[in-house]
Amino acid sequence: MGGVFDPIHYGHLFTAEEARVEFKLDKVIFVPCRQPAHKRANDISAPEDRYLMTVLAITNNQFFEVSKVELNRPGPSYSIDTIKEFLKKYNHGVKIFFITGADAFLEVDSWYKSDKLIRLCQFVAATRPGYDLNKLDQKFKKIIKIMEIPALSISSTDIRRRVREGKSIKYLLSQEVEEYIDKKGLYRKM
Ligand code: NAP
Repeated sequence: MGGVFDPIHYGHLFTAEEARVEFKLDKVIFVPCRQPAHKRANDISAPEDRYLMTVLAITNNQFFEVSKVELNRPGPSYSIDTIKEFLKKYNHGVKIFFITGADAFLEVDSWYKSDKLIRLCQFVAATRPGYDLNKLDQKFKKIIKIMEIPALSISSTDIRRRVREGKSIKYLLSQEVEEYIDKKGLYRKM
């Protein structure tokens, strides 16, 4: 389960649980990226904050884990490096599902070594209802599994905006993450 997680919210958690059940996954490993390959690093919160929020969010699900694999790797977070590390860790004896938002897959053609990446794992794209699937490249649409998740109408961008505007974010994410955001003063200025 890859993402920026700035911050992690119930849409992400629900997506992970839905994928776990639908694809009969042994576990879901959340992988916050250090430096998104397609974004400027100064637009996002510190890796340590995003990691700690993810740890706080997943504590009550025994099938969820968080990995620091991308946080510990310097430079841009290329998904292919991450998938290769997991395959190596499990001696290539596992099938890996790479779950992320459908929007992220729109640009998958331009990802580092994307042709190899699609052969190493099964892509799972989570979408908000009403999302236009025709936007996805035909080549990838054929092989990506799509999950429509109503809870994804919650978005990290909206949560950051709400904090900035002094609005409530209660019930959009876990209470522990809400308290962390408040304690650290995240998103008050952007
Ligand atoms: P992003 O901008 O944060 O997310 C794009 C969209 O997908 C947003 O609408 C986001 O909603 C949603 N989303 C993100 N993660 C999600 C998740 N786990 N479950 C459900 N929805 C999710 O993310 P990004 O920078 O595109 O990166 C997404 C993943 O793709 C990361 O693992 C990243 O490393 C990988 N990626 C790899 C490459 C490469 O290898 N070259 C390039 C680009 C992306 P929220 O804002 O609400 O989260």
